Amino acid sequence: MTSLSTEVLIIGGGPAGYTAAIYAARANLAPIQVLGYQPGGQLMITTDVENYPGFTSIQGPELMQHMADQAEHVETQMIHETVEKLDLGTQPFKAYLDGGTIIEAQAIILATGAQAKWLGLDSEKKFLGYGVSGCATCDGFFFKGKTVAVVGGGNTAVEEALYLTHHANKVYLIHRRDSLRAEKIAQDRLLNNPKIEVIWNSVVEEVTGDENPLSVTGLTLKNVQTQEVQNLSVDGLFVAIGHTPQSQLVKDTLDLDEEGYILTTPGSTQTSLKGIFAAGDVQDKTFRQAITAAGQGCMAALEAERHLNSN
Ligand code: NDP
Repeated sequence: MTSLSTEVLIIGGGPAGYTAAIYAARANLAPIQVLGYQPGGQLMITTDVENYPGFTSIQGPELMQHMADQAEHVETQMIHETVEKLDLGTQPFKAYLDGGTIIEAQAIILATGAQAKWLGLDSEKKFLGYGVSGCATCDGFFFKGKTVAVVGGGNTAVEEALYLTHHANKVYLIHRRDSLRAEKIAQDRLLNNPKIEVIWNSVVEEVTGDENPLSVTGLTLKNVQTQEVQNLSVDGLFVAIGHTPQSQLVKDTLDLDEEGYILTTPGSTQTSLKGIFAAGDVQDKTFRQAITAAGQGCMAALEAERHLNSN
């Protein structure tokens, strides 16, 4: 068993975590960053990133490597394990890692991110990466001239459907109700787009396809009002039904909203417990951008530094 101690422990290896590490290290706080086994966060499953200032166009994984290199350059101590348990009832706080390491910390920055939600169908899992995707901007390009469907009725689903019209010839939006949750302006764009057809009150029951090569050819849909079942021919399915914040570690110790996002003081990364800060998608369900996560990581490190100075 290894025991470590630090002024600032950062949990998470996405843009928020790396930026917090860079700021905390440059403030001489000798941070420890616990990254998990596949660091980089959601940008690792993105291809071209064209809206991160400083890079006209860069691949998601490459951008994350730059951030990791920079955090390492300023001597962040990085640990490739996951945190299994946090004890926030004592000072210093204690983190128990799955590899047996125990870390004591005066302050903690939670930057554990969020994960895309899936429908939970076996066939969805089977065709994931072979026609089923969770990211139109990553995979839309592969559907040039084809027919695709998007599931969901929120801003993400509408944006993905609109984005996909740049590649696909026909885009179905499948929604389980008869009205969308997305903003009015986005809805207007969607409903006025001749390439998009909305299939209301319907859910996907199965993704169907070929075995060799593994590829999607259609969907089995059920109308939830009439119970009518129909088959829809599509080449791809994009699932855009929201995200789940990865806040399980603190679900019993910090204030969360009804969807599980960590609540922070407006304009701050301060959580409901002094000395614990949250940055990035685990506390932000509105913007969810790499650049906003990075900005919140910066805020969290500065706020952690102030907290340590005032104690
Ligand atoms: P939302 O939670 O807003 O929407 C999820 C959608 O998926 C809902 O329409 C929901 O249906 C549907 N859904 C959920 N579970 C299922 C299921 N199992 N089967 C079928 N449908 C399902 O998530 P988003 O990712 O769209 O947005 C998340 C947040 O990010 C929101 O606050 C959004 O406003 C914000 N955002 C903002 C953007 C912008 O401002 N440009 C862009 C993208 C996101 P139902 O409506 O029936 O609940």
